[in-house]
Amino acid sequence: MTTFDLQGIGMTSARTRKRLIERLKEAGVKDHEVLSAMFSVPRHIFVDEALAHRAYEDTALPIGHAQTISQPYIVARMSELLREKGPLGRVLEVGTGSGYQAAIMARLAQSVYTVERIEPLLTRAVKRFRALRLDNIYSRLSDGSWGWQEKAPFDGIIVTCAPSVIPPELLDQLVDGGRLVAPVGEDGAQVLKVYQRTGDRFVEKTVESVRFVPLLPGVVR
Ligand code: SAH
Repeated sequence: MTTFDLQGIGMTSARTRKRLIERLKEAGVKDHEVLSAMFSVPRHIFVDEALAHRAYEDTALPIGHAQTISQPYIVARMSELLREKGPLGRVLEVGTGSGYQAAIMARLAQSVYTVERIEPLLTRAVKRFRALRLDNIYSRLSDGSWGWQEKAPFDGIIVTCAPSVIPPELLDQLVDGGRLVAPVGEDGAQVLKVYQRTGDRFVEKTVESVRFVPLLPGVVR
């Protein structure tokens, strides 16, 4: 059985978490709602116990299965970009991983639908959502290249693994006026992109260089 050090939320000193927030502000994150979500969601719950002492550093950390929990700066930046046009209703995340980005989005959107292709990662993430009582997160094991058709359309889509091109199915699942944030490109040459939908047109903007694990096909049990 997995247990979580929920006590630790209180025990992680406010100073440690405040330092992370200061670091995010210095890096250019401005959205107060995002900063407040980053302050209140305990990141150490989303990494192995052995790495918990590094959870409030602004760095990506391994979560097993050759995957990583994203760097706090990039989680904050992508959340901010997704929220830029106002409050969010339904959000789809591709790549649940540790569940951390979904937990942040759960504070910023009405509901979060998150899909992951590696079953043991998803199982662990779901336990964390339950322990933190994040009951507006819905998840499923699947290849997120196809989105989540039954739950579409979404106001926002956040992709946390990198496809070489954005699957058209994902763009199709955005509401009119919705936006998608994703790292795009091959290893070593990825850029963070925002796609804004107006009718059947998409305006694309490139934000900055990033490093993500690749979006891979199929499901691993
Ligand atoms: N958002 C995560 C980041 C995890 S890394 C977090 O906050 O921890 C990216 C994740 O995307 C990995 O867990 C990887 O297994 C998953 N992934 C890669 N390709 C995928 C696909 N086609 N469908 C769903 N998930 C995928």
